[in-house]
Amino acid sequence: MTEEIIDCSDVSDILRRALDGDRLDVDDGVRLFESDDLHAIGAAANEIRRKINGNRTYYIVNRHINYTDICKNRCTFCAYSRSEGENGAYMMSVQEALDRAEQYYDQIRFTELHVVGGLHPTMPFSYYIDLIRTLKSRFPSVHIQAFTAVEIAHIADISGLSVRDVLASLKDAGLGSLPGGGAEVFSPRVREVVCPEKMSGEKWLSVMRKAHNMGIKSNSTMLYGHVETYSERVEHMIALRDLQDETGGFMTFIPLKYHPGNTRLGEISASMSAQDDLKLYAISRLMIDNIPHIKVFWIMLGLKLAQVALSYGADDIDGTVIEEKITHRAGATTPQALTVSQLVTIIEETGTIPTERDTIYNEVTRDEAGLPAIS
Ligand code: SF4
Repeated sequence: MTEEIIDCSDVSDILRRALDGDRLDVDDGVRLFESDDLHAIGAAANEIRRKINGNRTYYIVNRHINYTDICKNRCTFCAYSRSEGENGAYMMSVQEALDRAEQYYDQIRFTELHVVGGLHPTMPFSYYIDLIRTLKSRFPSVHIQAFTAVEIAHIADISGLSVRDVLASLKDAGLGSLPGGGAEVFSPRVREVVCPEKMSGEKWLSVMRKAHNMGIKSNSTMLYGHVETYSERVEHMIALRDLQDETGGFMTFIPLKYHPGNTRLGEISASMSAQDDLKLYAISRLMIDNIPHIKVFWIMLGLKLAQVALSYGADDIDGTVIEEKITHRAGATTPQALTVSQLVTIIEETGTIPTERDTIYNEVTRDEAGLPAIS
């Protein structure tokens, strides 16, 4: 059936090459975005998802901590950030962040703390080290995934240290890996519109290169659905693929959907349909042949569409989350957290096998008391 769907498609030549293991180029990626044949593109992506990850759908039990919303960049797409002194601006002390982490630990025994925030103009280097060291010493078996490449470069700026020295100090304090945020779309034209103060795409890639070369793995992302063109999307994917060839340090690619609510950028283009979202997931799986996982962040896509994305290339759904602030300030109407049993049910409904993982994709089993063991 899949064969027939693909053979009848206007992009069957590209899909066949992808299924044969050939690399797709920019022109191929643009043609896929221009095609209306969502079924064929999705069927090919699903086949590749199954070749790489079988019938498993991964999920993680994690806890997000957004330690500050104060940010000197004030990207135009970002509804989350505040300036110092502005209504709603906050900065957690290390103790407050620890209290947040403690809050649900006995109930859910998360295996990951996911720590990200804005670029605070005056917090000293010691804050970031204390934060990681304190969390790691309280939760020694929990993986600390913290600070996007943008935050790492900012910490280097305020400390006067090199990116490499910042990463080494954080790793020594207990940092396990880096989240993939801050990549947005690498095109300078796009960055000038959506995040003019943010570091360049080249710099983002260079921080990731350094982290990977030090044994610190990371995620990768692309913020889509604003002013970017098809070719800019595809070039972004290929830049990630090229770095992955070099370092092998990316664990997953996460397409992040732009939410216009409460942003200065606002509604700048026709909103993307569910079909557009699914096509983007599928094309990600076809273009990026060397990053093992494609993750759907249900907070941004909504639960029902996230389920469908699991048949369009995605093999991972994030997560129990708990208290997500960033997308909700931009108007996301999804819940702020899911229980593990809700997440498992959502995956089972798709006919795939729920597989709990830790941050670096080791499988996790739990005993009767719910305590995790990593295999
Ligand atoms: S996206 Fe990140 S860097 Fe940009 S304003 Fe928001 S918190 Fe700051």
